[in-house]
Amino acid sequence: MQFSLNDLYFTNVTDKRRHGLLLYEHIGTELANLAETKKYVQRLDQLAKTLHHSMESLVMFTLCSKCGEQVEGGCCSDFMAGETDAIQLLMNMLMDIKIEVQRQDVLECCYLGDKGCIFTLKPFFCLNYNCSDILKGNTITALKPYIQATGQLLSEQNRMEEYILTYLRRQEILTH
Ligand code: SF4
Ligand code: SF4
Repeated sequence: MQFSLNDLYFTNVTDKRRHGLLLYEHIGTELANLAETKKYVQRLDQLAKTLHHSMESLVMFTLCSKCGEQVEGGCCSDFMAGETDAIQLLMNMLMDIKIEVQRQDVLECCYLGDKGCIFTLKPFFCLNYNCSDILKGNTITALKPYIQATGQLLSEQNRMEEYILTYLRRQEILTH
């Protein structure tokens, strides 16, 4: 099994999902059992929980579900599903997330489930999206924990991604 960066990052949503699932099938168990992987998974789980709490305290989930109920209201559009990639999907599978298509309505992101996005580790663009409805009405002090938690999660996600890419290169699975 061999992949190029293009296969993992720049193919369409379905192919990226297929490539992520293939990677997990072939190397998921071996990768999950490495001490370094376990360390990343534990740390990312903690950081994702911290971010979740900070989002709760900004009542973001209530705001977003109200927004999502409106026609073309939410920001998780079908177009945004293009931000996912095979490594991000693999990382979620290593964190016990089942990668299953939630909808095929060509309006909303196929990974948007009844309780929101299925991922613990969202694509960078989704995580970094600063919606004006969320920002307005909140002071910088109130937003600070959320901004900090987002930054910490993004940095650690980035480190785990680099670690996996290095692993794939060493195994000669990632070609160029
Ligand atoms: S982040 Fe903003 S645009 Fe996206 S669903 Fe929430 S309120 Fe709506
Ligand atoms: S946050 Fe999740 S559901 Fe929303 S667009 Fe991004 S990947 Fe899709």
